[in-house]
Amino acid sequence: MIVYNNCRLVDGTGAEAVENAVLITDKSKILYAGASESAPLIANECQIVDLKGKTALPGLFNCHVHMALRFPFTSYCVDEYGTPGYRAMVMYRRAIEAMYCGVTTIRATGEADYADLAVRDAINKNMVMGPRILTAGPIIIAHGGHGAGSWGAMECSGQDDFRRATRIALFKGVDFIKICITGGMVGEHEGASTMQMTEEEIAAVTSVARNSGKVVAAHLGNDAAIRAAVRNGVKSIEHAYIMNRETAAILAASDAYLVPTLAVSNACDYLEKHRNPRYHIEKIRAIGKLHQESVANAVKEGVKIAVGTDLLPSDPLDGTNATVRECELLCEAGMSALQAIRAATVNSAELCGVYNTVGSLTVGKEADFIVCDGRPDQNIRDLRRLKLVVKGGSLVWSKVEGYEKQGFSVLPFGETPMGASFINW
Ligand SMILES: [Zn+2]
Repeated sequence: MIVYNNCRLVDGTGAEAVENAVLITDKSKILYAGASESAPLIANECQIVDLKGKTALPGLFNCHVHMALRFPFTSYCVDEYGTPGYRAMVMYRRAIEAMYCGVTTIRATGEADYADLAVRDAINKNMVMGPRILTAGPIIIAHGGHGAGSWGAMECSGQDDFRRATRIALFKGVDFIKICITGGMVGEHEGASTMQMTEEEIAAVTSVARNSGKVVAAHLGNDAAIRAAVRNGVKSIEHAYIMNRETAAILAASDAYLVPTLAVSNACDYLEKHRNPRYHIEKIRAIGKLHQESVANAVKEGVKIAVGTDLLPSDPLDGTNATVRECELLCEAGMSALQAIRAATVNSAELCGVYNTVGSLTVGKEADFIVCDGRPDQNIRDLRRLKLVVKGGSLVWSKVEGYEKQGFSVLPFGETPMGASFINW
């Protein structure tokens, strides 16, 4: 048992912080989380950690990640990593970097060679330490659609083709299905409003997934696509670059979640630095303001929002990492700091279907939590002041005075774990 004493506690549900709180873990689980005066009496031999008034909150989620991301994007079919095994190693490295940034759960929205399943399973079996991973396997797209030409994409035409691809991914053991309904920023000859899948094709995928108890996440760009997605049972709306108040109201009334990925549409300089094509940068520059307005509409209408970045969770962005930056951008779109924390924890856990086990600091759940200096529930920028990461009760690293632990020191993570520099392994 470990007693984390003298902290402020933000449980992730949107409730106000508990001052003078205690968090007690027993092996991998949370035994108690709440006010210190109500805490159970603890035997003297327990390890006691003084958190010195810092704030404890649930480990963050990043629900839109491509672990094998490589810059610049290639628009032709090439295996950038040479073998599925090496690809898995790259993904594992990125997963570790995410965990160092306080992201204890990743949802991967499109990978190749099913290497993502290998990384997920190795971590789940405790073969190696890493964050929790929910993953979609390959993106399932229309012929010539968004992501066409990227390694591992399954291109389909017609309902039967989409059903076949969905069944293959489910057979391999994916956690959910990822489709692309419209074009996006990466393809040269497509846009956020280019409709690429028919409604019948969307329905074909969602019905096959539903029969296996899996949800469908859809990359999409505009109002028409969002409405078509919701009508046809898509549960995870990715990006939504262009969305008016009326569409946001429809989304809010549905059981779907929005994963905005504002980080990537605010990353022009970063993408430019990594030599991405000019047309790609220009398209993102053009969509940035619209995207921010769309998410503001979603916040006003009460859409359930989860956190995702479309960049690596650890990518350095504006002085922090992409995941923390996303939370800040959600606040700039109108969320309170508490709401943004809920988006990155409880909402994301619900979207991932793992809220029974993680996502909030609640008795009986897995002890995934982080500790920050300051009050991130009042000023979201305090998420930048990360001081400790615990996953499943195991300490990943800590800079809490008197309780220091270094992570894997062989890895070049730089001075702080607030953003690993991007490396094209
Ligand atoms: Zn993506």
